[in-house]
Amino acid sequence: MQPLNTEQILNTLVGFNTTSRTSNLELINYVRNYLGDYGVGSTLIYNDEGDRANLYATIGPDDLSGVMLSGHTDVVPVKGQNWDSDPFKLKLQDGLLYGRGSSDMKGFIAASLAAVPQMVGSHIKTPIHLAFSYDEEIGCVGAKDLVDKLKLMEVKPKYGIIGEPTSMQSIIGHKGKRSYRAEFTGLSCHSAYIDDGVNAIEYAAHLVLFIQQMNQKLLQRGQTDSAYSVNHSTFQTGVIKGGTVINIVPKTCHFDFEVRHLPQDDIEAILTEITSYAEQEILPEMQAKNADCNITFSMLSGYPGMHTHPDSACVALASSLSHHACQGEKVSFGTEGGLFQEGLNLSCVVCGPGSIEQAHKPNEFISQAQLVECDNFMQALVHQCKEASF
Ligand SMILES: [Zn+2]
Repeated sequence: MQPLNTEQILNTLVGFNTTSRTSNLELINYVRNYLGDYGVGSTLIYNDEGDRANLYATIGPDDLSGVMLSGHTDVVPVKGQNWDSDPFKLKLQDGLLYGRGSSDMKGFIAASLAAVPQMVGSHIKTPIHLAFSYDEEIGCVGAKDLVDKLKLMEVKPKYGIIGEPTSMQSIIGHKGKRSYRAEFTGLSCHSAYIDDGVNAIEYAAHLVLFIQQMNQKLLQRGQTDSAYSVNHSTFQTGVIKGGTVINIVPKTCHFDFEVRHLPQDDIEAILTEITSYAEQEILPEMQAKNADCNITFSMLSGYPGMHTHPDSACVALASSLSHHACQGEKVSFGTEGGLFQEGLNLSCVVCGPGSIEQAHKPNEFISQAQLVECDNFMQALVHQCKEASF
């Protein structure tokens, strides 16, 4: 059997339209069969509907922790984007490979798979695990089930390499994110008699402003981290809906807000500040006019931040394999690393080929040079896992 190179595998992977919320099973089956050809078994962890799956596979001894290579198989939609070529057909031009997911992040998955023959043939002492998830782009949906599954395993990976596009630089942190809906119930009446009603929009607006002011408060409290380009946890309201017509005092209003928080900030405490203000300052005023008024909160989505110590062994490993010294860099975009760290206590580094600059955009590409760098990373990893056991 002639081994496939990274570019050939990437060509196949890009051909599967694995836009988030659609089935990734064709791709997963391809990977499972590919691994099977090398005698590597896969565990599939399906979603409730059974149309998407995470894949987990271990190469090498199963009684040691080892290193996990993590990648998401889904890609962002191409709808509404102007592409110069078919986004699901890899196209090479001037050293750049164009296609949806080429950078984010099928390039990393392809390089991991291309190294499987060496991993298998080298009789590595340290296991290498492959963890490929679904629906990362819509809130790390698949990885949550993967974490639950891995929690049950006796031996868990020790280090996680999250192959999101970082141009092979080792990234040691990212913010976490939570989004919530706040729903206000007031009392409607004819707008000529406003004192008979409770205006849900106006009371909601009080809370929107309070949430906005949290940005400034955290800055004043010095809850900052200069490694981030936006150096504090941020708050913003992105959607608001309320009222029916201009001449009725609105009974209902809801708005959605998000917090992108520094991993070191106590997110629960911050959110309690917001809900306490609503319950203690706004709600009593509403209920004084009508006892049935209410404010409720519900969480829409979220993932934890990632925070890895720059001196940790995982960072040293990743930077020695990539030949890029770690600069202590942190990024604004989220990854599955936060979930693995929170749920499994894995030490994680984000390091993968391609640039986040190209991710999510039309004419997404990865350079052949970046794929070569990632191939070299994988070869060095195999070598390391052959020499040492952990
Ligand atoms: Zn990604």
